[in-house]
Amino acid sequence: MTGNKTLAMIKPEAVAEGNIGAILDMMSKGGFKIKALKLLQLSEERAKAFYAVHAERPFYHDLVNYMISGPIIATVLEKDNAVQAFRDFIGATNPAEAAEGTIRAIYGRSLESNAVHGSDSDENAVIETEFHFSADEIV
Ligand code: ADP
Ligand code: MG
Repeated sequence: MTGNKTLAMIKPEAVAEGNIGAILDMMSKGGFKIKALKLLQLSEERAKAFYAVHAERPFYHDLVNYMISGPIIATVLEKDNAVQAFRDFIGATNPAEAAEGTIRAIYGRSLESNAVHGSDSDENAVIETEFHFSADEIV
């Protein structure tokens, strides 16, 4: 049984470049229904907590500084098999390796600045959704 929701973020460089609308449009046209949405600025503490699973990785410090470098969009998306469907839709972590037509291939700028986040499991989709949204912010 796979879940039907995932947590996505539009990352700082994509917001700063003015690509919020284009990326949300791609998501909608890709069949992902928006169930929650907000623009927010992560604090260092919250960014560290969100990416705590990567705390021992060499890129963690830079990743946290990148994710707090400007506002982001957090959104809950609904589609059948949402987690895997959305990861297929955004493409590989490194935009240079992301399949043509994926969000990261189009809007990603580097391995770090790769435009979007997508949850990697149903369990993490729930954890990440609760990180960003209260129950009354999800329709
Ligand atoms: P994904 O976002 O595809 O699930 P990871 O969970 O492995 O990828 O990494 C989280 C984020 O950390 C990536 O989206 C990217 O922004 C950044 N990142 C991952 N690997 C590297 C790396 N080797 N160097 C710099 N940044 C990285
Ligand atoms: Mg990940």
